Amino acid sequence: MTNRREFIKRTVATGIGAAIFRPVAGASETAGLNGLPGHAGIAQTVLGPLDASKLGFTLPHEHIADGPYFYLPKWPKAWGGKSEFVAKAVEKLKLVRAAGVNTIVDLTTYDVGRDVRFLEEVSRKSGLNLITCTGQLFFPPKFPDVSMPARTIAGLTDFFLREINQGIDGTGVKAGVIKIGIITNHVTALEEIGLRAAVRASNATGLPIRIHTDAAHRAGESDAVVLEDEGMNPSRVSFDHSDDSGDMDYFLGLVRRGYSLGMDHVHRGLLPNIKPSFERRAECIKLLVDADFADKIFLSHDSEFGGSLLPAETRGFREKLDPPDGMLFITQKLIPYLKQIGVSDRNIHTMTVENPRSFFTVS
Ligand SMILES: [Zn+2]
Repeated sequence: MTNRREFIKRTVATGIGAAIFRPVAGASETAGLNGLPGHAGIAQTVLGPLDASKLGFTLPHEHIADGPYFYLPKWPKAWGGKSEFVAKAVEKLKLVRAAGVNTIVDLTTYDVGRDVRFLEEVSRKSGLNLITCTGQLFFPPKFPDVSMPARTIAGLTDFFLREINQGIDGTGVKAGVIKIGIITNHVTALEEIGLRAAVRASNATGLPIRIHTDAAHRAGESDAVVLEDEGMNPSRVSFDHSDDSGDMDYFLGLVRRGYSLGMDHVHRGLLPNIKPSFERRAECIKLLVDADFADKIFLSHDSEFGGSLLPAETRGFREKLDPPDGMLFITQKLIPYLKQIGVSDRNIHTMTVENPRSFFTVS
């Protein structure tokens, strides 16, 4: 567990507007994260540091960069190859921007096809702020085809720190968040290395952590045991895909401990064979807001954007789970519905603007 002094230090250093730098591994990076020593409230985007107040309406769990890696082979030259793929991506992202979204956080890690040059290009051309991640989604031996850059906590921490402090894949593009995938509620030995390395990288740099969780099996609770044993401040962690559970007892237990919940599969409840229903997922958001926890909720789509650019008949299982209107679902369907069941504009602003601003502020 964390001692009191450490806890206060973290709390202060992660607050919005804190003009305090946390110690960053690699001393030269202490001021280099934003290039503006003493400046408060910076988020790290693929185009460089950004005043966190400019993040605006943010979707904190999406996948755009999987496009080139997974979908370019299905995007033959006859369709225009990569330049046409980029053009189509930019065209769709401009619609998302026109709907009121300012920032998208891409949680595609290296092991599932992250491409930071693609992100850079579509960010510049679409006018959307994009934040990319370090971390790892799949861990062997559950996923035998996945290798790890290191199999010790210290080694994996170093890898994450390099992507945060120096840049990704030989570019100067730096990660602005740490993503870890814990596939079930039984954390494996290698997943535990991933979780502990994420905590160490977070505590060294101030970056927040988002975790893929199996909420239906209350995985946040077992993940939290490891996180807290490693000295993590819960206010810097979001358990994503939480709305795959409809259990208020599970939700309240986590938010009371300080964790955030990513409600990013709400659209899946519209499919007839998937539980909880859309209505129950939305109701849980409302119940959490009513219990005064709007400041612990994030809304997103977990969209596989690359797949959405393919013709409908060629889409695979994963893309069929995505909302039919892509990343417009929250602004055009979910938010109007939440208002209809009594969630205020003020609370929607908290979930979509204030929480991301605070969460993605790294210095
Ligand atoms: Zn995801």
